[in-house]
Amino acid sequence: MGVVKVERLTKRFGKVVAADEVSFEIAEREFFSLLGPSGCGKTTTLRCVAGLETADAGTIEIAGRPVYRAAERLDVPPNERNIGMVFQSYAVWPHMTVFENIAYPLRIRKVSQPRIAERVAHVLRILSMTGLEQRRPSQLSGGQQQRVALGRALALEPSVLLLDEPLSNLDAKLREQMRAELKLIQRESGLPILYVTHDQTEALAMSDRIAVMCAGRIHHLAPPEEIYRRPATAFVLDFIGSVTYLPCRVEARNGARVTLRWREATITVPSPPHVPRGPDVLLAARPESWRFVGDGGGLPGTIVLRSFHGSGFEYHVRLGETEITVMTPNDIRLNEGETVRAVVSEGLLLEPDALSRPEARAA
Ligand code: ATP
Repeated sequence: MGVVKVERLTKRFGKVVAADEVSFEIAEREFFSLLGPSGCGKTTTLRCVAGLETADAGTIEIAGRPVYRAAERLDVPPNERNIGMVFQSYAVWPHMTVFENIAYPLRIRKVSQPRIAERVAHVLRILSMTGLEQRRPSQLSGGQQQRVALGRALALEPSVLLLDEPLSNLDAKLREQMRAELKLIQRESGLPILYVTHDQTEALAMSDRIAVMCAGRIHHLAPPEEIYRRPATAFVLDFIGSVTYLPCRVEARNGARVTLRWREATITVPSPPHVPRGPDVLLAARPESWRFVGDGGGLPGTIVLRSFHGSGFEYHVRLGETEITVMTPNDIRLNEGETVRAVVSEGLLLEPDALSRPEARAA
């Protein structure tokens, strides 16, 4: 059963439909992300779940209890929704110790002293911060301060944690480290998480499932691998990971494989889930689906840019009027200006105008 259930949630700001019939459920212990570019409506959706924003239509349930029902004008205030929240501008109180920071929400609720001590000790164990209770925030690293903010959200034993870009104030290295820590903290606490981010790497790495949003709507709701490999729409395909397009013509569709023509060359790829009806298509492929071959086969092109990525090289290759990106292991070292031949092992096929239609089907 879903701990959080959102059904056909709609929120308008004047003419802008910030959330447009958004529906999803978050299961127990699930790490669920709302992912999308700035303005897609993810924060509005999270704020409606938190009760900080009142939607115009739909329903929200938390732990089996309705907290918002437009039809019945039911709108439970945030402090009665049993949620824990951490925002981008997480504020830990500088004049309080770690212990006092985490105990604060419990004190407000007039929880007894022994119970507070017990609860804070438990939260500190989850955060791996036992022993640091008397430190002040200025004596903590950025990551530890972030964990104190999480601790405060965990103190009241919420049904769900709502996190809005909680890592975006941290530098790149720390952010990466906190991703793993957050997963571990979640496992320890056993709580479901609703996570809002515009960072696809973060969402792919941490989530059990992701809802990718565009202009107030969920375009695709699925586990990370499926979102990456079988994106539902042109928008999701383009937003997640890296992808380049090659305009081709469909020559033959024979069950398991489809044959395409690009200039004089023939390209055969496994049939993707969706093959547009018309003859003209865009072949969309990830950099790792391309590789270079020796003389004779593949599509002829020229390397225009090489960049080193540690574990490999990324090559921008000009093929006629288009450019594709090819990712190779780091022992394949070619030079800018070199002529190469490239083959592709798999891709998706889009209608030729799909890039101007975000909702166009991709897989
Ligand atoms: P970001 O990552 O920039 O926060 P987001 O995906 O979270 O973006 P929202 O903040 O939910 O997007 O905004 C969705 C849309 O609703 C945007 O067009 C935004 O300008 C509009 N919007 C959000 N809050 C308000 C508000 N209080 N008043 C008017 N318009 C708003």
